[in-house]
Amino acid sequence: MSLDFHHVTLGQRVLFGAGRAASNLAAEVERLGAERVMVISGGRGGSSAREVTELIHVAVWHSEVVMHVPVEVAKRARASATDNNIDLIVSIGGGSSIGTAKAVSLTTGIPSIAVPTTYAGSEATNVWGLTEDDLKTTGVDDKVLPITVIYDSQLTLSLPVEMSVASGLNGLAHCVDSLWGPKADPINAAMAVEGIRALAEGLPQIVRDPQGIPGRDLALYGAYLAAVSFASAGSGMHHKICHILGGTFNLPHAQTHATVLPYVLAFNLNEVPGAQSRMAAAFGTDNALEGLQALRKLLDAPKALKDYGFTAAGIPTVVEQALATIPASNPREVTADNLTALLTAALNGADPTTFLAGVAE
Ligand code: NAD
Repeated sequence: MSLDFHHVTLGQRVLFGAGRAASNLAAEVERLGAERVMVISGGRGGSSAREVTELIHVAVWHSEVVMHVPVEVAKRARASATDNNIDLIVSIGGGSSIGTAKAVSLTTGIPSIAVPTTYAGSEATNVWGLTEDDLKTTGVDDKVLPITVIYDSQLTLSLPVEMSVASGLNGLAHCVDSLWGPKADPINAAMAVEGIRALAEGLPQIVRDPQGIPGRDLALYGAYLAAVSFASAGSGMHHKICHILGGTFNLPHAQTHATVLPYVLAFNLNEVPGAQSRMAAAFGTDNALEGLQALRKLLDAPKALKDYGFTAAGIPTVVEQALATIPASNPREVTADNLTALLTAALNGADPTTFLAGVAE
């Protein structure tokens, strides 16, 4: 088989080590010569921000963080950065804190360092997202890629098991969608498959021992690989659907990804040469979908979109928006009928192996 592809690797430093966030951050701030640091950190993920920043001088603390970054929230964060002559942003928290920092970098060009406390993976992508009038817009710009990521699994010990599971499956969704994203290539596939392996090994350890560092380390490592492969492969069918569910229906990001994933996997799996065997091997099973479902059962993962407030009335809107945004390169043709069947199954938590029965191809 001949290989023919274009691959872009995004430039970023990764500093990884349990208990090392404060010292790694201080060294990085010094290396960059930053003098006016703004810390963006909201929600419970930000509760460790004081500890992480104890060795640096912080000029501004910004704690207004809202999931999917409403434009008014972005505007206030940008004003705070420019009014205070900030030269470096440090985001500490989940994807919402990192997303707020990205919104500032996007318009001001101020660089950022990310200290993630979930497995969402925003820290390793050049993708930004903003929400206005119930519509989430995403875009790609290298300005928003944090120059450095500092991983410290001790900061994730406080992430409740349920949220760890949902967030870890959000990471796993990045890996899976990377296998058929619009710019999928053998390099990002290699990282995606290793990301699946690490997450499939790490997440059950977190459920068994939420305070154990090895499982948390594996999940962060897997989340990073997931995000790098996703950033390179581009947003595929799964992400396009979930962005609509999050942006228009305000469903919780990680739980939505965790719920929709088996349905999109079932939809595309057999249309991508090699995907079945490689993903199955990463799950340690003979069949990728069975591997994912066994993992989800073990983790007691989110099951149905109706549990998060979504109703059948929303399906036509999602279908309309998704048909306009799912890449034409998706390995299986997406139609209003098969997408409605997929969303109805995800709404109800139905068996992902049967929802396409009877739907015209
Ligand atoms: P989040 O940042 O909103 O965090 C989820 C919840 O977990 C919050 O209540 C938060 O306070 C809490 N939390 C975070 N870390 C914690 C910790 N260590 N201990 C206790 N509680 C903690 O959600 P998320 O799932 O991390 O990120 C979702 C957002 O990130 C969405 O807006 C999504 O679109 C975006 N995202 C963007 C990209 C990208 O590439 N641009 C990738 C992934 C996610």
